[in-house]
Amino acid sequence: MKYVGAHVSASGGVENSPLNAQAIGAKAFALFTKNQRQWKASPLTIDNIRLFRENCEKAGFKPFQVLPHDSYLINLGNPGKEELEKSRDSFLDEMRRCEQLGLDRLNFHPGSSLKKTDDESCLKLIAESINITLSKTHGVTAVIENTAGQGSNLGYTFEQIRFIIDHIEDKSRAGVCFDTCHGFVAGYDISTPDKFNETFTAFDKIIGIKYLKGMHLNDAKKGLGSKIDRHESIGKGTLGLEVFRMIMNDSRFDDIPLILETPDDSIWAEEIKLLYSL
Ligand SMILES: [Zn+2]
Ligand SMILES: [Zn+2]
Repeated sequence: MKYVGAHVSASGGVENSPLNAQAIGAKAFALFTKNQRQWKASPLTIDNIRLFRENCEKAGFKPFQVLPHDSYLINLGNPGKEELEKSRDSFLDEMRRCEQLGLDRLNFHPGSSLKKTDDESCLKLIAESINITLSKTHGVTAVIENTAGQGSNLGYTFEQIRFIIDHIEDKSRAGVCFDTCHGFVAGYDISTPDKFNETFTAFDKIIGIKYLKGMHLNDAKKGLGSKIDRHESIGKGTLGLEVFRMIMNDSRFDDIPLILETPDDSIWAEEIKLLYSL
């Protein structure tokens, strides 16, 4: 079964996100459990936690249908010692919030070398950050998102993601989220049936399809290999609607959250309907 939804607002409290998702006919959702552009956040209150769980229950969302996203400020591969500590502390806080909310996965961008170290050292640092966090938490899988490869951001090739997973001690809590826009602009062609199959066969061979714990369904504004991360509404970009028809009809993408991060939130309900109609 397919679980399609969107990255909905949690403003006014995390407990509002399942209601916002339900209102657009979503069967899955993503959220930020704190302000994604600030380091500091007040802890979740007992009421936030209770109401979030109650609203998920009422709206029929189980943990596997929810894909929280961490803050954009976090860089688990930051070569600066103090900055790395700050990112690791913040990432641990994000994981603990997921634990409190009863969620089972946390989606994040692997990290950036800031062009101060080589890629391999940075990837090792990222894996070390993940290991530290997993050793202090329970039940939440670290879900690495493939990136567009903009600037010095790593995680834009399947090999880099595999390298990180290879260095994670508890592989039962390692996962991957494939963002269709990021993948395409990073150079993975998925726009025709042949190329689509080639890409996901490579994903399975290099990473392993069992690690796929979520997807971001975004069309792209820029072209294949452009490395420019600009999302577009479904069917209106360089990827086109056929990619999403292939995804919706492929059992490899069953039973994981399929999340829209498309720019026009006023048409999310329509986009969800459109995807199910495929
Ligand atoms: Zn992301
Ligand atoms: Zn994404």
